[in-house]
Amino acid sequence: MPSGARRGKRAAALAERARRVRLLVMDVDGVLTDGRMVLSERGDELKFFHTHDGVAVALAKRAGLKTALVTGETSTIAKTRGDKLGVDTVVLGARRKGEVLDALLASFGLPAAAAAWIGDDLLDVPALERVGLAIAVADATGPAKAVAHLVTRARGGAGAVREAVELILEAQGVRRAIVNGYIRDHGGSPARWR
Ligand SMILES: [Mg+2]
Repeated sequence: MPSGARRGKRAAALAERARRVRLLVMDVDGVLTDGRMVLSERGDELKFFHTHDGVAVALAKRAGLKTALVTGETSTIAKTRGDKLGVDTVVLGARRKGEVLDALLASFGLPAAAAAWIGDDLLDVPALERVGLAIAVADATGPAKAVAHLVTRARGGAGAVREAVELILEAQGVRRAIVNGYIRDHGGSPARWR
């Protein structure tokens, strides 16, 4: 098969996976952040989040997707960020993310095929192996990338979640309507964009 046709087939298979997504689960460190943590002498912790990913969560919610943040860390920063963005669930201290995924699917009444998981490292692998759409960020580690159906162009903390959400909405045929609705609801008029 010529490489163009092979690419086309791969894109179609990816779009089919993305079409089924009803739940978007995001790892925090290395996905919503660049993975770095700032620690003070007193042990206070700071992380950088990208505003484009905040809007991505808003867009996903508009499209009716359920959203969750799942982190292996116990710091409440993820909870603060999740609450601010209005995600449905935040799970802290998740060391066995495959089991956390199973619990999320049960609580939302969804099959694994309806879940997308976006991760970057070893703790994400058990969940990435189970979901219908496994996404690794551009700078994810090898084992996470190896089980991903999609590796984003953007790095963690630099709009990778936005890229993933827009790809899902595009596959579901609602990207333009959702984005234009967001612009309209904030006082703008839908412009020409791609
Ligand atoms: Mg991570």
